Amino acid sequence: MSAVLEITDLAVHFPGRGGAPIRAVDGVSFHIAPGETLGLVGESGCGKSTVSNTVVGLLAPTRGSVRVLGTELAGANRRTLRAVRARVQMVFQDPVTSLNPRMTVGAAVGEPLLVRGVARGAALRDRVAALLEEVGLRPDHAGRYPHQFSGGQRQRIVIARALALRPALLVCDEPVSALDVSVRAQILNLLVELQARLGMSSLFVSHDLAVVRHVCDRVAVMYLGCLAELAPREALYAAPRHPYTRALLAAVPEPDPAVQRAKPRVPLSGEIPSPAAPPAGCRFHTRCPMAVDICRQKVPEWRKVGESMVACHLAE
Ligand code: SF4
Ligand code: MG
Repeated sequence: MSAVLEITDLAVHFPGRGGAPIRAVDGVSFHIAPGETLGLVGESGCGKSTVSNTVVGLLAPTRGSVRVLGTELAGANRRTLRAVRARVQMVFQDPVTSLNPRMTVGAAVGEPLLVRGVARGAALRDRVAALLEEVGLRPDHAGRYPHQFSGGQRQRIVIARALALRPALLVCDEPVSALDVSVRAQILNLLVELQARLGMSSLFVSHDLAVVRHVCDRVAVMYLGCLAELAPREALYAAPRHPYTRALLAAVPEPDPAVQRAKPRVPLSGEIPSPAAPPAGCRFHTRCPMAVDICRQKVPEWRKVGESMVACHLAE
């Protein structure tokens, strides 16, 4: 089956203050298969949200291709973008700002159906009730306002709204980061369950490798606008190939103190360089504990090592 999302050599540059463009995303390629969840992880500022905003048509690529269900978004006209946006929905980090405080949750969840002319009147009310039930909320609460719900419930409302048009691809950008730790697992389980039931694909953006582990089939690790590594979940967590992936994994706290003590320490030195002036050669060389001469001179090839795709001269 062909890919639901196919990104090829995507670059998104913004005008910078000193004249040099800010290379927020600088040559990223990956695909998402039908029904698959791909995790996109990295530190804040690495470009992962820029990728997700491009996928939903909020940002235009500077270079490269973004295909959703075979339709090219780069250079697409408004009509094409509107049609594609019906098939790709987004769940943002903060359920408070994603919901209009003056709109009942029923109106918010039903809005996409109404705007697209899919349902109205009693049929719309029925659909909204079914959507609220689908995300574990009471359908008779459709007349309430967002402030009458908890943070976790509000994120359920946002998810119900995102599902209204039965998207082929759900883009989740840090969907549980703003929530209490106690409700995070519930929301993640809900996303996994809905995705399996509805056969959706998903792009799951997070800075948290522990969260991504729960929900993703494959994981892509991003650093300073580029992919460092992309691998099936098991391979990535069991045998990370890129020094940056290893450093991120080492920073994930283990619930078991004995396991935590036995963990290798991989200290990451220094700050992330500016995306307006990325280092030559491997972009990670200024912070990499393994860096050698060639790392400062030559951009590592994106190549297959074991089960992973990886950009590192020393991945073996
Ligand atoms: Fe480190 Fe060199 Fe690999 Fe880059 S190419 S991650 S600097 S070892
Ligand atoms: Mg972000």
